[in-house]
Amino acid sequence: MGKSIELFLQLQLLVLCLLVLPQKGSSSSLFQRNKETEATGSASIKQEQEHSHEVHCSRERSRAAWKVIEEYLMPFVEQEKYQITRKCLLHPDNDMFRDQEQHKVHVDINDWQCGYCKKSFRAEKFLDQHFDNRHYNLLNASQSKCLADLCGALHCDLVMDSKLRKTKCNPAAASRNHHLCESLADNCFPGNAGPSASRLHELFLRQFCDAHTCTGGKKPFSRGGKKRTSIFYLAVSILTLMLLPLFYCIVYLHQMEKKKGVQDLKRIPNRNKSKPS
Ligand SMILES: [Zn+2]
Repeated sequence: MGKSIELFLQLQLLVLCLLVLPQKGSSSSLFQRNKETEATGSASIKQEQEHSHEVHCSRERSRAAWKVIEEYLMPFVEQEKYQITRKCLLHPDNDMFRDQEQHKVHVDINDWQCGYCKKSFRAEKFLDQHFDNRHYNLLNASQSKCLADLCGALHCDLVMDSKLRKTKCNPAAASRNHHLCESLADNCFPGNAGPSASRLHELFLRQFCDAHTCTGGKKPFSRGGKKRTSIFYLAVSILTLMLLPLFYCIVYLHQMEKKKGVQDLKRIPNRNKSKPS
């Protein structure tokens, strides 16, 4: 009996050892790996800068163009259930950065992760650099057109840094952009593609093309953009709901105090009157 208990205890010890040892190993290797990535982090950025490739298409402006399309065109396209063809330059496949942009993981404010190799970066610009250098082969530069080239027609400056905005209007540039804008509308929403296409053609002209003039008056994105149930509105409504009972409570207490005051005042002259008799 005693022997079997001893054997059982020994077995348990063995199982425990087996369970604990690999965990220790893996955690230490994980720690090591973390340390390695930390150590190589700064070195690899330097290395990546050395191996930078040149792409004749602005990633930033392409991103701005995509933002405009997503915000001020796609809601209407989706509403009409219209399928944009690849012939249209606004199609996602015609943006050479689209695949890379979709492989950006914004983990936290200061944490951007590469979706291809899971490497982390402190800012989006470092991830952009990483894409340019490490995943250059994934950039479909040969087939895809540069979306940034459409920025003139799409009013990209309005969604980019306000410092870059031009204040003076150049009539030649405005006319060029208007022409580009109209050709985009014709290409993406051709007249022979049905009623929804012609409605979207009309919308595109009002939304983007009308404002390409130096006479002023017409503003871009006149038809509005994506409707969002923003966090701000949610926060305001929750706060209102929370503060409303408090407000009523204060009003109620105030009224009570007022009533009490009036009653006290009523009592005082009564007491004075009753004294002489
Ligand atoms: Zn990567």
